[in-house]
Amino acid sequence: MQDSSGGSTDATQRLAEGMPLPEPGSFEQLQRVVVVGAGPVGMCTALALGRAGVPVTVMEKGPGLATESRASTFHPPTLELLEDLGVVDEVIARGLKAPRTQFRDRRAGPIAEFDLGALEGETRYPFRIQLEQNKLAALVLETIREEAAIGEIDVEVRFSWRLHAALSAGSTSEDLDEPARLLCGTTEGFVEVTAPWVVACDGAHSPVRESLGVQLEGETYPERFLVASVDEQLDDMVEGIAYVNYIADPQEWLVLLRTPDHWRVLLPVDPTEADRDDSDFTEADVQERLLGVADPGRPWRIVQWSLYVVRRAVAETMFVGRVLLAGDAAHQNSPLGGMGMNSGIQDGISAARRLAELWHDRAGPGVLEEYDTNRRRVATEYVQADSHANWLALREPDPARRAELQADLAATAADPHRHHDKVARSAMLDAIRTSL
Ligand SMILES: Cc1cc2nc3c(=O)[nH]c(=O)nc-3n(C[C@H](O)[C@H](O)[C@H](O)COP(=O)(O)OP(=O)(O)OC[C@H]3O[C@@H](n4cnc5c(N)ncnc54)[C@H](O)[C@@H]3O)c2cc1C
Repeated sequence: MQDSSGGSTDATQRLAEGMPLPEPGSFEQLQRVVVVGAGPVGMCTALALGRAGVPVTVMEKGPGLATESRASTFHPPTLELLEDLGVVDEVIARGLKAPRTQFRDRRAGPIAEFDLGALEGETRYPFRIQLEQNKLAALVLETIREEAAIGEIDVEVRFSWRLHAALSAGSTSEDLDEPARLLCGTTEGFVEVTAPWVVACDGAHSPVRESLGVQLEGETYPERFLVASVDEQLDDMVEGIAYVNYIADPQEWLVLLRTPDHWRVLLPVDPTEADRDDSDFTEADVQERLLGVADPGRPWRIVQWSLYVVRRAVAETMFVGRVLLAGDAAHQNSPLGGMGMNSGIQDGISAARRLAELWHDRAGPGVLEEYDTNRRRVATEYVQADSHANWLALREPDPARRAELQADLAATAADPHRHHDKVARSAMLDAIRTSL
Protein backbone atom coordinates (compact mmCIF):
# COMPACT_ATOMS: atom_id res chain seq x y z
CA MET A 1 0.00 0.00 0.00
CA GLN A 2 1.12 3.53 -0.67
CA ASP A 3 0.56 6.56 1.40
CA SER A 4 -0.39 9.80 -0.23
CA SER A 5 3.16 11.14 -0.07
CA GLY A 6 5.62 8.87 -1.79
CA GLY A 7 7.96 10.22 0.93
CA SER A 8 10.32 8.56 3.35
CA THR A 9 10.36 8.22 7.11
CA ASP A 10 14.07 7.41 7.53
CA ALA A 11 15.04 10.52 9.44
CA THR A 12 12.15 10.34 11.87
CA GLN A 13 12.66 6.65 12.52
CA ARG A 14 16.32 7.14 13.26
CA LEU A 15 15.62 10.11 15.49
CA ALA A 16 12.64 8.45 17.21
CA GLU A 17 14.62 5.28 17.85
CA GLY A 18 17.44 7.32 19.34
CA MET A 19 19.83 6.14 16.64
CA PRO A 20 22.66 8.54 15.88
CA LEU A 21 22.51 10.20 12.50
CA PRO A 22 25.44 9.26 10.25
CA GLU A 23 28.57 11.41 10.40
CA PRO A 24 29.06 13.47 7.24
CA GLY A 25 32.14 12.59 5.19
CA SER A 26 32.24 16.04 3.60
CA PHE A 27 30.84 19.58 3.87
CA GLU A 28 29.42 21.93 1.27
CA GLN A 29 28.54 25.59 1.78
CA LEU A 30 25.90 26.64 -0.73
CA GLN A 31 25.09 30.29 -1.43
CA ARG A 32 21.87 29.14 -3.08
CA VAL A 33 18.32 28.30 -2.07
CA VAL A 34 17.94 24.54 -1.56
CA VAL A 35 14.62 23.05 -2.66
CA VAL A 36 14.15 19.57 -1.23
CA GLY A 37 12.03 17.27 -3.45
CA ALA A 38 11.38 17.33 -7.20
CA GLY A 39 7.64 16.68 -7.12
CA PRO A 40 5.26 19.15 -8.79
CA VAL A 41 5.63 21.62 -5.91
CA GLY A 42 9.44 21.49 -5.75
CA MET A 43 9.84 21.84 -9.51
CA CYS A 44 7.49 24.85 -9.78
CA THR A 45 9.15 26.49 -6.76
CA ALA A 46 12.61 26.04 -8.26
CA LEU A 47 11.60 27.49 -11.64
CA ALA A 48 9.84 30.46 -10.00
CA LEU A 49 12.93 31.21 -7.90
CA GLY A 50 15.22 30.83 -10.89
CA ARG A 51 13.11 33.23 -12.95
CA ALA A 52 13.32 35.76 -10.11
CA GLY A 53 17.12 35.72 -10.32
CA VAL A 54 17.71 33.46 -7.32
CA PRO A 55 20.24 30.60 -7.64
CA VAL A 56 18.69 27.24 -6.70
CA THR A 57 19.78 23.67 -6.01
CA VAL A 58 17.06 21.01 -6.05
CA MET A 59 17.81 17.82 -4.12
CA GLU A 60 15.68 14.80 -5.01
CA LYS A 61 16.14 11.40 -3.38
CA GLY A 62 15.05 9.43 -6.45
CA PRO A 63 17.34 8.70 -9.40
CA GLY A 64 14.86 10.66 -11.56
CA LEU A 65 11.43 12.23 -11.28
CA ALA A 66 8.69 10.15 -9.64
CA THR A 67 6.57 8.34 -12.23
CA GLU A 68 3.51 8.03 -9.99
CA SER A 69 0.57 10.12 -11.23
CA ARG A 70 -1.61 10.92 -8.21
CA ALA A 71 -2.99 14.38 -8.98
CA SER A 72 -4.63 14.90 -12.36
CA THR A 73 -6.57 18.17 -12.04
CA PHE A 74 -5.24 21.71 -12.52
CA HIS A 75 -7.63 24.47 -11.42
CA PRO A 76 -7.90 27.93 -13.11
CA PRO A 77 -5.72 29.94 -10.66
CA THR A 78 -2.97 27.31 -10.84
CA LEU A 79 -3.08 27.60 -14.64
CA GLU A 80 -2.58 31.36 -14.24
CA LEU A 81 0.54 30.71 -12.15
CA LEU A 82 1.76 28.19 -14.73
CA GLU A 83 1.28 30.93 -17.34
CA ASP A 84 3.67 33.12 -15.33
CA LEU A 85 6.13 30.21 -15.41
CA GLY A 86 5.74 29.98 -19.20
CA VAL A 87 4.50 26.37 -19.21
CA VAL A 88 0.72 26.75 -19.37
CA ASP A 89 0.38 26.40 -23.16
CA GLU A 90 2.17 23.08 -23.03
CA VAL A 91 0.09 21.93 -20.02
CA ILE A 92 -3.06 22.73 -21.99
CA ALA A 93 -1.69 21.06 -25.12
CA ARG A 94 -0.74 17.88 -23.23
CA GLY A 95 -3.91 17.81 -21.08
CA LEU A 96 -7.68 17.70 -21.54
CA LYS A 97 -9.96 20.70 -21.01
CA ALA A 98 -12.66 19.80 -18.49
CA PRO A 99 -15.02 22.72 -17.82
CA ARG A 100 -17.87 20.58 -16.43
CA THR A 101 -18.07 18.69 -13.11
CA GLN A 102 -21.00 16.38 -12.55
CA PHE A 103 -22.54 15.24 -9.28
CA ARG A 104 -24.62 12.04 -9.21
CA ASP A 105 -26.28 9.70 -6.79
CA ARG A 106 -25.20 6.13 -7.40
CA ARG A 107 -28.80 4.89 -7.38
CA ALA A 108 -30.84 7.92 -8.50
CA GLY A 109 -28.48 9.19 -11.24
CA PRO A 110 -27.49 12.78 -12.14
CA ILE A 111 -28.15 15.50 -9.52
CA ALA A 112 -26.35 18.60 -10.76
CA GLU A 113 -23.68 19.85 -13.11
CA PHE A 114 -21.35 22.82 -12.65
CA ASP A 115 -19.56 24.67 -15.42
CA LEU A 116 -16.36 26.65 -14.90
CA GLY A 117 -17.43 28.66 -17.95
CA ALA A 118 -19.31 30.75 -15.35
CA LEU A 119 -15.88 32.28 -14.51
CA GLU A 120 -15.41 33.67 -18.02
CA GLY A 121 -13.97 37.19 -17.70
CA GLU A 122 -12.60 36.54 -14.18
CA THR A 123 -9.86 34.13 -15.18
CA ARG A 124 -8.08 33.50 -18.44
CA TYR A 125 -8.67 29.78 -17.85
CA PRO A 126 -12.37 29.07 -17.13
CA PHE A 127 -11.83 25.30 -17.12
CA ARG A 128 -9.88 22.54 -15.38
CA ILE A 129 -7.05 20.82 -17.18
CA GLN A 130 -6.83 17.09 -16.64
CA LEU A 131 -3.16 16.07 -16.73
CA GLU A 132 -1.15 13.79 -14.46
CA GLN A 133 1.19 15.51 -11.96
CA ASN A 134 4.28 13.60 -13.13
CA LYS A 135 3.80 15.12 -16.59
CA LEU A 136 3.87 18.64 -15.12
CA ALA A 137 7.03 17.88 -13.13
CA ALA A 138 8.70 16.51 -16.30
CA LEU A 139 7.66 19.58 -18.30
CA VAL A 140 9.04 21.97 -15.68
CA LEU A 141 12.29 19.99 -15.45
CA GLU A 142 12.64 20.25 -19.26
CA THR A 143 12.11 24.03 -19.02
CA ILE A 144 14.64 24.38 -16.20
CA ARG A 145 17.25 22.45 -18.16
CA GLU A 146 16.68 24.47 -21.33
CA GLU A 147 16.85 27.84 -19.56
CA ALA A 148 19.82 26.83 -17.37
CA ALA A 149 21.74 25.61 -20.45
CA ILE A 150 21.60 29.08 -22.03
CA GLY A 151 22.32 30.86 -18.73
CA GLU A 152 18.88 32.42 -18.32
CA ILE A 153 18.43 30.90 -14.90
CA ASP A 154 20.82 29.38 -12.37
CA VAL A 155 18.99 26.23 -11.25
CA GLU A 156 20.63 22.81 -10.84
CA VAL A 157 18.77 19.58 -10.08
CA ARG A 158 20.62 16.86 -8.18
CA PHE A 159 19.05 13.40 -8.31
CA SER A 160 19.94 10.61 -5.85
CA TRP A 161 20.41 13.26 -3.14
CA ARG A 162 18.37 12.24 -0.12
CA LEU A 163 17.79 14.72 2.67
CA HIS A 164 18.14 12.74 5.90
CA ALA A 165 17.56 15.53 8.39
CA ALA A 166 17.61 19.26 8.82
CA LEU A 167 20.27 19.48 11.55
CA SER A 168 19.37 23.12 12.17
CA ALA A 169 16.80 25.50 10.68
CA GLY A 170 19.28 28.38 10.95
CA SER A 171 18.28 31.76 12.22
CA THR A 172 17.56 35.23 10.90
CA SER A 173 17.76 37.07 14.21
CA GLU A 174 20.14 39.99 14.68
CA ASP A 175 22.06 38.19 17.46
CA LEU A 176 22.36 34.93 15.61
CA ASP A 177 22.38 34.98 11.81
CA GLU A 178 23.05 31.39 10.79
CA PRO A 179 22.41 29.34 7.66
CA ALA A 180 20.33 26.17 7.76
CA ARG A 181 22.26 22.88 8.04
CA LEU A 182 21.16 19.76 6.19
CA LEU A 183 22.41 16.18 6.32
CA CYS A 184 22.20 14.60 2.87
CA GLY A 185 22.93 11.08 1.65
CA THR A 186 24.45 10.75 -1.83
CA THR A 187 25.95 7.91 -3.84
CA GLU A 188 29.33 9.17 -2.59
CA GLY A 189 28.41 9.19 1.12
CA PHE A 190 26.97 11.67 3.60
CA VAL A 191 27.39 15.41 3.11
CA GLU A 192 26.55 18.24 5.48
CA VAL A 193 25.22 21.16 3.46
CA THR A 194 24.67 24.71 4.67
CA ALA A 195 22.29 26.99 2.79
CA PRO A 196 20.88 30.47 3.37
CA TRP A 197 17.32 29.30 2.65
CA VAL A 198 15.58 25.93 2.27
CA VAL A 199 12.14 25.16 0.84
CA ALA A 200 10.98 21.70 1.94
CA CYS A 201 8.81 20.19 -0.82
CA ASP A 202 9.61 16.63 0.28
CA GLY A 203 6.07 15.26 0.51
CA ALA A 204 3.78 14.15 3.29
CA HIS A 205 6.44 12.39 5.39
CA SER A 206 8.79 15.35 4.94
CA PRO A 207 12.04 14.42 6.71
CA VAL A 208 12.74 18.17 6.88
CA ARG A 209 9.50 18.87 8.78
CA GLU A 210 9.87 15.82 11.00
CA SER A 211 13.52 16.42 11.90
CA LEU A 212 12.69 20.01 12.86
CA GLY A 213 9.93 18.72 15.14
CA VAL A 214 7.11 20.63 13.40
CA GLN A 215 3.86 18.87 14.31
CA LEU A 216 1.10 18.03 11.84
CA GLU A 217 -2.33 18.47 13.33
CA GLY A 218 -5.02 16.25 11.83
CA GLU A 219 -6.36 12.73 11.35
CA THR A 220 -6.30 9.76 9.00
CA TYR A 221 -9.42 8.94 6.96
CA PRO A 222 -11.06 5.69 8.06
CA GLU A 223 -11.02 4.04 4.64
CA ARG A 224 -8.25 3.42 2.16
CA PHE A 225 -8.67 5.02 -1.26
CA LEU A 226 -8.42 2.70 -4.28
CA VAL A 227 -7.41 4.40 -7.52
CA ALA A 228 -7.59 2.29 -10.70
CA SER A 229 -6.56 3.57 -14.14
CA VAL A 230 -8.44 1.70 -16.82
CA ASP A 231 -8.19 1.35 -20.56
CA GLU A 232 -11.94 1.62 -21.12
CA GLN A 233 -14.34 4.12 -22.69
CA LEU A 234 -16.17 4.89 -19.45
CA ASP A 235 -18.37 7.45 -21.17
CA ASP A 236 -19.83 4.56 -23.22
CA MET A 237 -20.34 2.47 -20.07
CA VAL A 238 -21.92 5.14 -17.83
CA GLU A 239 -24.30 7.32 -19.79
CA GLY A 240 -23.99 11.09 -19.83
CA ILE A 241 -20.92 11.53 -17.60
CA ALA A 242 -18.54 14.51 -17.79
CA TYR A 243 -14.72 14.29 -17.53
CA VAL A 244 -15.01 14.81 -13.74
CA ASN A 245 -17.79 13.04 -11.80
CA TYR A 246 -18.51 12.71 -8.08
CA ILE A 247 -21.02 9.93 -7.36
CA ALA A 248 -22.57 9.73 -3.88
CA ASP A 249 -23.41 6.51 -2.09
CA PRO A 250 -23.47 5.62 1.62
CA GLN A 251 -21.66 2.30 1.02
CA GLU A 252 -19.58 2.89 -2.07
CA TRP A 253 -19.16 6.46 -3.22
CA LEU A 254 -17.20 6.87 -6.37
CA VAL A 255 -15.19 9.35 -8.46
CA LEU A 256 -14.79 8.95 -12.23
CA LEU A 257 -12.10 11.10 -13.84
CA ARG A 258 -10.75 11.32 -17.36
CA THR A 259 -7.03 11.82 -17.89
CA PRO A 260 -5.42 12.18 -21.33
CA ASP A 261 -4.45 8.49 -21.44
CA HIS A 262 -7.06 6.73 -19.28
CA TRP A 263 -10.20 6.89 -17.20
CA ARG A 264 -9.62 6.71 -13.46
CA VAL A 265 -11.95 5.20 -10.88
CA LEU A 266 -11.56 6.15 -7.21
CA LEU A 267 -13.39 4.03 -4.60
CA PRO A 268 -13.24 3.60 -0.83
CA VAL A 269 -11.85 0.29 0.52
CA ASP A 270 -12.27 -1.12 4.08
CA PRO A 271 -11.10 0.78 7.11
CA THR A 272 -7.49 1.87 7.37
CA GLU A 273 -5.41 -0.06 9.88
CA ALA A 274 -1.92 1.07 10.70
CA ASP A 275 -0.38 -2.42 10.52
CA ARG A 276 -2.61 -3.84 7.78
CA ASP A 277 -1.01 -6.21 5.31
CA ASP A 278 -2.38 -5.13 1.98
CA SER A 279 -1.97 -8.53 0.39
CA ASP A 280 -5.61 -8.89 1.54
CA PHE A 281 -6.57 -6.82 -1.48
CA THR A 282 -5.74 -8.17 -4.92
CA GLU A 283 -6.41 -7.40 -8.58
CA ALA A 284 -9.38 -9.80 -8.38
CA ASP A 285 -10.87 -7.52 -5.72
CA VAL A 286 -10.29 -4.50 -7.96
CA GLN A 287 -12.12 -6.34 -10.78
CA GLU A 288 -15.02 -7.13 -8.50
CA ARG A 289 -15.34 -3.50 -7.43
CA LEU A 290 -15.14 -2.24 -11.01
CA LEU A 291 -17.73 -4.75 -12.23
CA GLY A 292 -20.01 -3.21 -9.62
CA VAL A 293 -19.55 0.16 -11.34
CA ALA A 294 -20.39 -1.19 -14.82
CA ASP A 295 -20.31 -4.64 -16.39
CA PRO A 296 -18.80 -4.73 -19.89
CA GLY A 297 -19.46 -8.51 -20.05
CA ARG A 298 -15.74 -9.27 -19.63
CA PRO A 299 -13.04 -8.27 -17.12
CA TRP A 300 -12.15 -4.55 -17.05
CA ARG A 301 -8.85 -3.64 -18.74
CA ILE A 302 -6.94 -2.40 -15.69
CA VAL A 303 -3.72 -0.53 -16.48
CA GLN A 304 -2.61 0.20 -12.94
CA TRP A 305 -4.09 0.40 -9.45
CA SER A 306 -2.96 1.59 -6.02
CA LEU A 307 -4.35 1.81 -2.51
CA TYR A 308 -3.71 5.00 -0.54
CA VAL A 309 -3.97 5.88 3.12
CA VAL A 310 -5.14 9.50 3.13
CA ARG A 311 -4.76 12.06 5.92
CA ARG A 312 -6.08 15.53 6.50
CA ALA A 313 -3.63 17.61 8.45
CA VAL A 314 -1.91 20.99 8.51
CA ALA A 315 1.53 21.77 9.95
CA GLU A 316 1.52 23.97 13.05
CA THR A 317 3.79 26.41 11.19
CA MET A 318 4.93 26.75 7.60
CA PHE A 319 8.40 28.05 8.41
CA VAL A 320 11.11 27.65 11.04
CA GLY A 321 14.19 29.86 10.92
CA ARG A 322 15.41 29.73 7.34
CA VAL A 323 13.33 26.72 6.31
CA LEU A 324 9.92 27.03 4.61
CA LEU A 325 7.48 24.14 4.13
CA ALA A 326 5.36 23.86 0.97
CA GLY A 327 2.91 21.37 -0.54
CA ASP A 328 2.27 18.00 1.11
CA ALA A 329 5.17 18.67 3.49
CA ALA A 330 2.96 21.38 5.03
CA HIS A 331 -0.57 20.01 4.59
CA GLN A 332 -2.43 16.96 3.35
CA ASN A 333 -6.06 16.47 2.46
CA SER A 334 -8.49 14.08 0.81
CA PRO A 335 -8.16 14.09 -3.00
CA LEU A 336 -11.91 14.85 -3.33
CA GLY A 337 -11.92 18.26 -5.01
CA GLY A 338 -8.40 17.96 -6.46
CA MET A 339 -6.86 20.61 -4.25
CA GLY A 340 -3.67 19.13 -2.72
CA MET A 341 -1.21 19.67 -5.55
CA ASN A 342 -2.95 22.87 -6.64
CA SER A 343 -2.63 24.48 -3.23
CA GLY A 344 0.92 23.09 -2.98
CA ILE A 345 1.98 24.75 -6.25
CA GLN A 346 0.39 27.96 -4.96
CA ASP A 347 2.45 27.62 -1.74
CA GLY A 348 5.59 27.13 -3.81
CA ILE A 349 4.99 30.25 -5.91
CA SER A 350 4.11 32.24 -2.80
CA ALA A 351 7.30 31.04 -1.06
CA ALA A 352 9.41 31.80 -4.15
CA ARG A 353 8.07 35.35 -4.47
CA ARG A 354 8.80 36.10 -0.83
CA LEU A 355 12.24 34.48 -0.86
CA ALA A 356 13.13 36.46 -4.00
CA GLU A 357 12.26 39.68 -2.13
CA LEU A 358 14.48 38.60 0.76
CA TRP A 359 17.28 37.49 -1.54
CA HIS A 360 17.36 40.83 -3.35
CA ASP A 361 17.12 42.77 -0.03
CA ARG A 362 13.76 44.23 -0.92
CA ALA A 363 12.06 42.81 2.18
CA GLY A 364 12.88 41.57 5.66
CA PRO A 365 12.13 38.21 7.30
CA GLY A 366 8.64 39.52 8.24
CA VAL A 367 7.46 38.23 4.85
CA LEU A 368 7.80 34.72 6.24
CA GLU A 369 5.12 35.43 8.87
CA GLU A 370 2.91 36.59 6.02
CA TYR A 371 3.63 33.37 4.12
CA ASP A 372 2.67 31.32 7.16
CA THR A 373 -0.54 33.26 7.81
CA ASN A 374 -1.74 33.30 4.20
CA ARG A 375 -0.94 29.76 3.25
CA ARG A 376 -2.13 28.15 6.48
CA ARG A 377 -5.39 30.05 6.05
CA VAL A 378 -5.86 28.61 2.56
CA ALA A 379 -4.91 25.12 3.77
CA THR A 380 -7.41 25.17 6.63
CA GLU A 381 -10.28 27.41 5.48
CA TYR A 382 -10.41 26.23 1.87
CA VAL A 383 -8.52 23.02 1.16
CA GLN A 384 -9.22 21.13 4.40
CA ALA A 385 -12.75 22.47 4.77
CA ASP A 386 -13.89 21.80 1.20
CA SER A 387 -12.18 18.47 0.54
CA HIS A 388 -13.54 17.16 3.85
CA ALA A 389 -17.05 18.47 3.12
CA ASN A 390 -16.89 16.68 -0.26
CA TRP A 391 -16.02 13.42 1.52
CA LEU A 392 -18.84 13.82 4.04
CA ALA A 393 -21.40 14.61 1.32
CA LEU A 394 -20.38 11.71 -0.90
CA ARG A 395 -20.81 9.14 1.87
CA GLU A 396 -23.76 10.71 3.82
CA PRO A 397 -25.52 7.70 5.45
CA ASP A 398 -28.77 9.39 6.58
CA PRO A 399 -31.33 9.28 3.69
CA ALA A 400 -33.10 12.48 4.77
CA ARG A 401 -29.85 14.44 5.10
CA ARG A 402 -28.61 12.97 1.81
CA ALA A 403 -31.79 14.11 0.04
CA GLU A 404 -31.41 17.57 1.58
CA LEU A 405 -27.77 17.88 0.45
CA GLN A 406 -28.61 16.74 -3.06
CA ALA A 407 -31.60 19.10 -3.35
CA ASP A 408 -29.38 21.97 -2.26
CA LEU A 409 -26.73 21.00 -4.83
CA ALA A 410 -29.37 20.93 -7.60
CA ALA A 411 -30.75 24.31 -6.48
CA THR A 412 -27.22 25.79 -6.40
CA ALA A 413 -26.52 24.57 -9.93
CA ALA A 414 -29.80 26.06 -11.18
CA ASP A 415 -29.25 29.53 -9.67
CA PRO A 416 -26.68 31.53 -11.72
CA HIS A 417 -25.30 33.45 -8.70
CA ARG A 418 -24.95 30.42 -6.46
CA HIS A 419 -23.59 28.41 -9.39
CA HIS A 420 -20.93 31.06 -9.96
CA ASP A 421 -19.96 31.23 -6.28
CA LYS A 422 -19.74 27.46 -5.98
CA VAL A 423 -17.41 27.07 -8.98
CA ALA A 424 -15.29 30.08 -7.90
CA ARG A 425 -14.83 28.50 -4.48
CA SER A 426 -14.14 24.96 -5.73
CA ALA A 427 -11.53 26.41 -8.11
CA MET A 428 -9.91 28.24 -5.11
CA LEU A 429 -10.20 31.50 -7.05
CA ASP A 430 -10.83 33.86 -4.17
CA ALA A 431 -8.37 31.93 -1.99
CA ILE A 432 -5.55 32.73 -4.36
CA ARG A 433 -6.66 36.31 -5.03
CA THR A 434 -6.52 37.13 -1.32
CA SER A 435 -3.88 34.79 0.08
CA LEU A 436 -1.09 33.93 -2.35
C1 LIG B 1 -5.23 9.39 -5.30
C2 LIG B 1 -4.83 10.82 -5.23
C3 LIG B 1 -5.32 11.71 -6.17
C4 LIG B 1 -4.98 13.07 -6.09
N1 LIG B 1 -5.50 13.94 -6.99
C5 LIG B 1 -5.22 15.27 -6.90
C6 LIG B 1 -5.72 16.20 -7.88
O1 LIG B 1 -6.43 15.84 -8.83
N2 LIG B 1 -5.39 17.52 -7.73
C7 LIG B 1 -4.59 17.95 -6.71
O2 LIG B 1 -4.35 19.16 -6.61
N3 LIG B 1 -4.05 17.07 -5.81
C8 LIG B 1 -4.34 15.75 -5.89
N4 LIG B 1 -3.78 14.86 -5.01
C9 LIG B 1 -2.77 15.34 -4.05
C10 LIG B 1 -1.38 15.45 -4.73
O3 LIG B 1 -0.99 14.21 -5.25
C11 LIG B 1 -0.34 15.96 -3.75
O4 LIG B 1 -0.87 17.06 -3.04
C12 LIG B 1 0.95 16.37 -4.49
O5 LIG B 1 1.63 15.24 -4.98
C13 LIG B 1 1.89 17.14 -3.57
O6 LIG B 1 3.05 17.46 -4.28
P1 LIG B 1 4.44 17.65 -3.52
O7 LIG B 1 5.41 18.04 -4.59
O8 LIG B 1 4.23 18.50 -2.33
O9 LIG B 1 4.79 16.20 -2.93
P2 LIG B 1 5.13 14.87 -3.71
O10 LIG B 1 4.39 14.78 -4.99
O11 LIG B 1 4.96 13.77 -2.73
O12 LIG B 1 6.68 15.03 -4.07
C14 LIG B 1 7.67 14.97 -3.06
C15 LIG B 1 9.02 14.77 -3.72
O13 LIG B 1 10.01 14.81 -2.71
C16 LIG B 1 10.89 13.72 -2.85
N5 LIG B 1 11.42 13.39 -1.53
C17 LIG B 1 10.76 12.81 -0.50
N6 LIG B 1 11.59 12.64 0.55
C18 LIG B 1 12.80 13.15 0.16
C19 LIG B 1 14.06 13.25 0.79
N7 LIG B 1 14.25 12.76 2.00
N8 LIG B 1 15.09 13.83 0.13
C20 LIG B 1 14.92 14.31 -1.15
N9 LIG B 1 13.76 14.19 -1.81
C21 LIG B 1 12.70 13.64 -1.16
C22 LIG B 1 10.00 12.62 -3.44
O14 LIG B 1 10.78 11.60 -4.07
C23 LIG B 1 9.14 13.41 -4.40
O15 LIG B 1 9.75 13.55 -5.66
C24 LIG B 1 -4.10 13.51 -5.06
C25 LIG B 1 -3.58 12.59 -4.14
C26 LIG B 1 -3.95 11.26 -4.21
C27 LIG B 1 -3.39 10.29 -3.22
